[in-house]
Amino acid sequence: MKDLISFKLITALSITLLSFSSCKNLDLKESSSSGIAAKNIEEYAIQGVLWQQTSGEYKALCYQAFNIAKLQLGKELSNHATSDKPLAIVTDLDETLIDNSPYSAKQAKIGEGFLAENWIAWGNLEAAEAVPGALEFLNFAHQNGVAIFYISDRYNNQLQSTINNLKKLNFPNADNEHIMLKQKGQNKEKRRLKVAQNYKAVLFLGDNLSDFSNIFDHQTLESRNALTDKERAEFGKKFIVLPNPMYGAWLTDGIYNGKYDWTPAQKDSIIRKRLNSY
Ligand SMILES: [Mg+2]
Repeated sequence: MKDLISFKLITALSITLLSFSSCKNLDLKESSSSGIAAKNIEEYAIQGVLWQQTSGEYKALCYQAFNIAKLQLGKELSNHATSDKPLAIVTDLDETLIDNSPYSAKQAKIGEGFLAENWIAWGNLEAAEAVPGALEFLNFAHQNGVAIFYISDRYNNQLQSTINNLKKLNFPNADNEHIMLKQKGQNKEKRRLKVAQNYKAVLFLGDNLSDFSNIFDHQTLESRNALTDKERAEFGKKFIVLPNPMYGAWLTDGIYNGKYDWTPAQKDSIIRKRLNSY
């Protein structure tokens, strides 16, 4: 009986070891044939997410942006003639006024790139918090008679959840008229021009260069940088920039050259090639 038990134990152990070693071989085969195919490339965002969620420096940069915005708006208000068009602020939403870092944290943890359905599901929670300083600044603008237009590339079917989220946080002008989400094939310039028909837009707020002007749309890394240098006088004046180390056109257009179907191994290689070391 004891021998039989020992035999069974040894057999079971051998099968387990065999299975383990064949799995291991498969893994090795996979990793040797496709490089780092199994790598969770989304993990590269972790340090950016952590910085946004925990650092005083992130908050300080946001406060700095909104302090400058208030200063510039004060100048515009004192120079504004009653005969002029009413004043407006044009602002982006995500990572400009509201913080979606929990969505990016989840992407990094589960190793999943951007998926519309997951982005919409996160939006439906209506749980994004306000970016530090955003609410105070926009309420200052609103109390001084400045209209706020939220021009965001959130999907059009996210309108109600977006209104709800902004209302929960007490953002002014959180309604159908002032929230202008992406229509099919439409960039932000069309929506900015629509605002300009009836308002004098004096400040543009965003975490992405395309939030300021269409000259930055779909540009290479080199062009984005050259254009930023060219427009240097506008930053902190008409263009107010918020930090976003997690995602954006700096990555999709800049690093990945506007191509969305790189494999994780290719992305890893591209990222490493972009590093400036010595
Ligand atoms: Mg944004």
